[in-house]
Amino acid sequence: MKFIAVHFDLKTLLVCLFFANLFTVLLVLAYHSRYPRDGTSRLFIVAKLLQLVILILLLVEGSTPFKFLRLILALGCLAGATAEMLALLKLLGASTDRVKRSYYTLAGCSGAGLLVIEMLFPLRVQPIVIVWTSLSVAGLMAYPVYILCVKLKETPLQKIMGLLYSFVMLSLLGRAVEPFLGTGATDTAASGLLQAFFYIAVYLLMFLWTAGFMLLSRERIYAELERVSTYDELTGILNRRAFVQRAGPLLDTAAKEATPFSFLLLDVDHFKSINDTYGHDTGDKVLRDFASKIEGQLANGDLFGRFGGEEFAVFLHRADEAASDEIAERLRLSVLDTVVEGLPMPYTISIGVITVTSAEMVPLNTLYKLSDNALYEAKQQGRNCVSRSRLTRTLPLP
Ligand code: GH3
Ligand code: MG
Ligand code: MG
Repeated sequence: MKFIAVHFDLKTLLVCLFFANLFTVLLVLAYHSRYPRDGTSRLFIVAKLLQLVILILLLVEGSTPFKFLRLILALGCLAGATAEMLALLKLLGASTDRVKRSYYTLAGCSGAGLLVIEMLFPLRVQPIVIVWTSLSVAGLMAYPVYILCVKLKETPLQKIMGLLYSFVMLSLLGRAVEPFLGTGATDTAASGLLQAFFYIAVYLLMFLWTAGFMLLSRERIYAELERVSTYDELTGILNRRAFVQRAGPLLDTAAKEATPFSFLLLDVDHFKSINDTYGHDTGDKVLRDFASKIEGQLANGDLFGRFGGEEFAVFLHRADEAASDEIAERLRLSVLDTVVEGLPMPYTISIGVITVTSAEMVPLNTLYKLSDNALYEAKQQGRNCVSRSRLTRTLPLP
């Protein structure tokens, strides 16, 4: 049986990588011209441009007698890896000022180390530079690998990216020990294997970085879109759209299983005068305080959302009339001793309640209208109270 020998031709690999990188840069530049405020893609372009320079230097390496080419190459690797890791950290939401400063310091120290090596060991410079650069780049990768593999580990994509980056980091560590495995510059089996491992790692790194970067960006944008379209910006609870969406299956299940549930509409009393007296900012703080207090009183299966302005809705899972009366009263009382920024800010709320106990499918719109009627009654009764509507045979149309 014959085996097909696979030879890693470094020059071919470098030329392929060069053109792949070049077209990637062009595509990302086109994207960046449309979205110039995307700082992550700016860093990505910088990293890619540095990689292009490195690839050109690697291609001319054998045919130029320039003495400091290795050193410039190593410095370019450090700069490219720093830009790349900072872009990745930005994408992962881990690029704080402290992290950036640490990266600049680490990159600066590694670069200075290279210069010292060049001065101290002019004859044995090549292997030491390889060891030093590989260790430095592996060091730069350690934090993103930790974030992907240990801290986040939230999505399959993050896990796979973490594994691939770990592989690249390991191959760099292998590259660092490689000079110690061979006898001088000669090829031993171990050093040949490590060399092949390293080339695969380089190719993976470049390919993975491009594809992974794009997919991680998409993932981040989707998560952000989902957050914006689901939660209310001011209070952090569900917005009306998400509340309605999530209430649908709960209503279906309740009708199918004939389990009771209640729908509550809550409204802050005389909220306009809070705004007028203390200002809009304080009004916002009152709304946040209100939302967090109500949320703290609810059980896991319940829903809580902002329906608009100072009007909020609650879906009480498996709550019949007695249970919902008790909970509504608890909610009403929970906001009475509010303190905002050290100042007592007593405000009250009115609540309209409707409870469904039959297997009848009542549309959310109907529940809203009936509880709104009850809320209106509560306001008429002098506010700061709970009022109830009941389902009649003549249900309002959805
Ligand atoms: P009632 O007791 O009858 O409910 O009276 P009210 O003053 O609470 O009701 P009204 O509907 O007259 O006023 C609601 C006010 O809520 C008017 C609007 O400016 C204010 N508002 C709506 N959304 C926000 C918000 O996000 N922040 C702040 N600070 N105010 C808001
Ligand atoms: Mg109000
Ligand atoms: Mg209102």
